[in-house]
Amino acid sequence: MRVTTPKIRSAVASLPAYVPGARIPDGVQAFKVSSNENPYPPLPSVVDAITEAALTVNRYPDMGNTEMTDALAAFLSTPEREVSAERLAFGTGSVAALGHILSTFVDEGDEVVFPWRSFEAYPIVTSVAGGKSVRVRLTPDHRLDLDAMVEAVTDRTRVVLVCTPNNPTGTAVSHSQVLRFLHRIPDDVIVVLDEAYVEFVRKDDALDALALADQFPNVVVLRTFSKAYGLAGLRVGYVIAHPDIAAGIRAASTPFGVNLVAQVAVVASLRAADELNARVDALIDERTRVWTALRELGWDVPPSQANFVWFPTGTRTEELAAHARTRGLLVRPFAGEGIRVTIGEPEANDVLLELAAEWLTQ
Ligand SMILES: *Cc1c(COP(=O)(O)O)cnc(C)c1O
Repeated sequence: MRVTTPKIRSAVASLPAYVPGARIPDGVQAFKVSSNENPYPPLPSVVDAITEAALTVNRYPDMGNTEMTDALAAFLSTPEREVSAERLAFGTGSVAALGHILSTFVDEGDEVVFPWRSFEAYPIVTSVAGGKSVRVRLTPDHRLDLDAMVEAVTDRTRVVLVCTPNNPTGTAVSHSQVLRFLHRIPDDVIVVLDEAYVEFVRKDDALDALALADQFPNVVVLRTFSKAYGLAGLRVGYVIAHPDIAAGIRAASTPFGVNLVAQVAVVASLRAADELNARVDALIDERTRVWTALRELGWDVPPSQANFVWFPTGTRTEELAAHARTRGLLVRPFAGEGIRVTIGEPEANDVLLELAAEWLTQ
């Protein structure tokens, strides 16, 4: 038998290994609040559509995603603004869609600018695409520093990633801030507006990414069915862009990527949007309750526009996350920086508030 294996590309060999989530002690009610999932199970109408679709999985999915694309285009269109199907592209989750965007625009050694701390997938998809990560620090109040991001753009920059609301800090940039930012970015640089949590935003001067995508052909809007729509396990994300850009991204995408069951679930979910939005409203009420209580306790948690809150716990991070686990709360620690906790069902949020009070006195 040979003893060596073919060499893995160094950009891939140096990637961090996936760390599976820790287990909860037996007998303790567990709440998984580590991945920003929707705590509600799928709607009965969506489960029915999924069940029916299961009977036809011997067939390939529709390669053009026709029904899903048309349903989404209709859903995104308003009387003032039509979003045509040719402006859409899909991926198996928006992380995969982001990978397709980078494959479309990034050559070996090109730079991808993004905020940091931000979504963990950014440096990984950048490396896999052969690009070079350029991380721009958040401001001390956990917000994107758009001025510093403009300054980080060089001749080698092909893509800038704007995560809003930012994962894991929850802060969102405003429409006027992004508008000013776009005027300062060269028009041959792609700006990805990652709006994984857009449905949870309730603020003045909220970003209208679709309006900016109409105005700036270099803007690519990235969204997902994983969070507000509760389809994380089915893996569907999408892109809204200029038709030429969207065509390039579709060309770089995995053929038959989004599976047949997922496509059907998306159509059923868009049909049930009102019911799903009511759940989002309930989660936002919980977010307000949790955030207000945390501030009253004295925690310096940034205002969240997403379905999670950020505890800047610094060097105590791992100790506090381990303590949370003993009480059944699986949170997401970022060693030495802070803890991200998803807003879950009210019982999970109550456990969090108990823990947060204890953490202050420990
Ligand atoms: C969760 C998340 C996504 C979505 O991931 P999917 O692959 O669509 O499940 C994208 N961007 C950010 C910032 C996220 O937090």
